[in-house]
Amino acid sequence: MKITQIEAIPFKIPYLTPLKWGLAGYLEAAEHVLVRVHTDDGIIGIAEATPRPTIYGESQASILYAIKNWFGPMVIGLDPSHTEKVWAKFDTIHWNPTAKGAIDLALWDAAAKARGLPLWEILGGSSDRLPVSWMLGMRSISEMIQEAMDMRAKGFKSFKVKVGIDPGKDIQVIKSLRESIGPDVLIYADANMAYDVSTAIRTIKKMEEYGLAFIEEPIPVWNWRGRKKVAHAISIPIMGDESVFTPQDVAREIDLGAIGIISIKTPRTGYTLSLKIIHQAEMAGIPCLMGTQAETGVGTLASAHFGAARRNVSYPSEISFFLGLKDDLLAEPISLKDGIIELPKRPGNGAILDEEKIKKYRMD
Ligand code: MG
Repeated sequence: MKITQIEAIPFKIPYLTPLKWGLAGYLEAAEHVLVRVHTDDGIIGIAEATPRPTIYGESQASILYAIKNWFGPMVIGLDPSHTEKVWAKFDTIHWNPTAKGAIDLALWDAAAKARGLPLWEILGGSSDRLPVSWMLGMRSISEMIQEAMDMRAKGFKSFKVKVGIDPGKDIQVIKSLRESIGPDVLIYADANMAYDVSTAIRTIKKMEEYGLAFIEEPIPVWNWRGRKKVAHAISIPIMGDESVFTPQDVAREIDLGAIGIISIKTPRTGYTLSLKIIHQAEMAGIPCLMGTQAETGVGTLASAHFGAARRNVSYPSEISFFLGLKDDLLAEPISLKDGIIELPKRPGNGAILDEEKIKKYRMD
C-alpha cells in the first residue's frame, strides 16, 4: 500500500461557550484542519490538526502550508505503516507538531483499516473504553460550580479546573467545588504556567487541603529549577503538559524528577511519538492521561483509541471537549455515557465523516 495524496481541509465549528484559560488562551470556535491520506488501494486515513498559536506557534494557514508544501510531498509513495521512515523525513523540518501529528494519525488510521482492526487493538489492546473528565474554564465561581454539578449529574466523576490568573479565587473555586460535589470526585487544576514559584507553592498548598489530586504546569516551563522547587514543596504530583511536548522533553523531565504525571496529546505527537512517550513514562513509574487540544470528534476518537489501548493511561482523560461544540463533522456521534467513551467497533479510528457537514464548515 502506497500513499498517493494528502488532503488538508480547513474548517470552522463554533463552540457553545467560548473557552478561556491561562494568560493568553481564548477560543471561540474550533478552527482546525481535516487531514485525509489517500492510498493506492483506495483506503483513506483520517485525522484532525488543531492549530494553537499561543502554544505551538502554528495557525490554520501555517498547517495548510506545511502539509501542502513540506510534509505531504515527503510521504507520497511511502507505505503508511512505515512511520519511522516518515518521521526521519519529518525531522528534517523543525517543529510544526500538529501538522506532523495529524499526518501521523491519519497514516496509522489507514494502516489499521488495511488490517481490518480498530486502532486500540493495534496500539496495545488494553481496552475499548476510556473514562474521561470534564474541564471547567474560567468563569465566575458560581457558574463553574453549577457547570460541575450539571456534568456530575451526567456521570462525570473527574474535573479539571483552569486556574492561574487570580490565586485567591483559584483556592476558593477548589474549596467550593469540593464542598458542593463531595469527597469521591477527582479534582485537579491546570495553571497553564501562570503562577510564579512562590505563588505556586503557597496556592497549591492551600488547594491540597481540599483534596486537589494534582496540579498541571504551575509555573513557566523554562524555569526547570523552579519546577523542582515547587515539586519538592508540595505533596501532590505536578502533571507535565507544556514541559513534555516531545519524547526528548520527557527524557529530560524524568531525569529532573519534578513531574509525577504526564499529559499525552496525540494531536501534537501523533501515535508514533506518543508511543515513545508512554513507554518512557511507564518505565519511570509515571502514569499518564490523554490531554485535550479541544479536538472535534475526529481528533477525539484518535486520542481515545490511544488512551484505551494503553494500561499506563490510568487517570481519566480530558477528551470530552467535543461536547462543547455546536456541531461536528462526524456522521455518527461519539458514545459517551457515565463519563466513559466507548469506541466504535469499525477498523481504524472508526470515524465516519458527514460529507454535507464538511461542505458546510470548510473554509477554503
Ligand atoms: Mg494544560
